[in-house]
Amino acid sequence: MNQRFAIILLFLSFVGLAQTTSELQDSQNFFSEEDLLLNIKTLSSDTFEGRRTGSEGSKKAKVYIINQLKALDILPLSKNYEQPFLFTHHEKQYKGTNILGFVRGTAHPENYMVISAHYDHEGIKNGQIYNGADDDASGISALISFAQYFIYNPPKHSVIIAAFDAEELGLEGSKYFVNNTIVPANSIMVNLNMDMISRSETNTLFAVGTRYNKNLKEVVSNFKKTGNVNLLPGHDGEDSLEDWTFSSDHASFHKQGIPFLYFGVDDHEDYHTPNDDFENIHPEFYKEAVKIIISTFNLIDTLTF
Ligand SMILES: [Zn+2]
Repeated sequence: MNQRFAIILLFLSFVGLAQTTSELQDSQNFFSEEDLLLNIKTLSSDTFEGRRTGSEGSKKAKVYIINQLKALDILPLSKNYEQPFLFTHHEKQYKGTNILGFVRGTAHPENYMVISAHYDHEGIKNGQIYNGADDDASGISALISFAQYFIYNPPKHSVIIAAFDAEELGLEGSKYFVNNTIVPANSIMVNLNMDMISRSETNTLFAVGTRYNKNLKEVVSNFKKTGNVNLLPGHDGEDSLEDWTFSSDHASFHKQGIPFLYFGVDDHEDYHTPNDDFENIHPEFYKEAVKIIISTFNLIDTLTF
């Protein structure tokens, strides 16, 4: 082998090595997009029968989510990750179960950020399964992606990964969680809630709640867009848009005076219909939305409240 050829070979192998390393770093920086889509697809499949609180489908969803958290080494915040609760809705007694995981903060372990989504949906009505792909298998699958992300990017503040039950029956799971908190009530500094984040005709993800907190307002308004998806503040009563302050589990935190950001999309034609299926989500939008939410989380994680 002549010397010049050897140098070229050496150079090429370096380039190859550098490429592999940066690809690896990229994938470690975020999460597996494949798993994000697989988890939403699985949770919104007919097997889970629309995940109505107290149903067999809901139990299956609970086991599925807990197994995912276990596999990603997320610690349980409560016994077996479960926080059971009872409530009455339309004079019927229900038993719900929140699922709670825990990641210890590297710099401020005594302060908590709660990242949440709800795993219940409408179940089966008139023989039709309401699979709730966008509402809210999308948020739950994103929660699992957060857990993946934390493997290589541990948070500075402690994080509670909360998959709430009985949102559709009146935000019952989140209400129970904040009123029976397992950590000191004043140690929860913020709630980031995800409910319906997987489709948008206008490539717009809304961040609701900036009206109530100037730090969060700054984070959202200074957010640097990298892909095609817009992150817009609003829907919190200050603009002409519908007020979503009390529309999902973040409301339970807001009522306790805890700052929140709620991520969601505009209502769509399949909202609360049997057509809210995996086939109707927008995968590219969804992947980008989850990246934006994780980036926003990182900015908030650097703040002190
Ligand atoms: Zn929902």
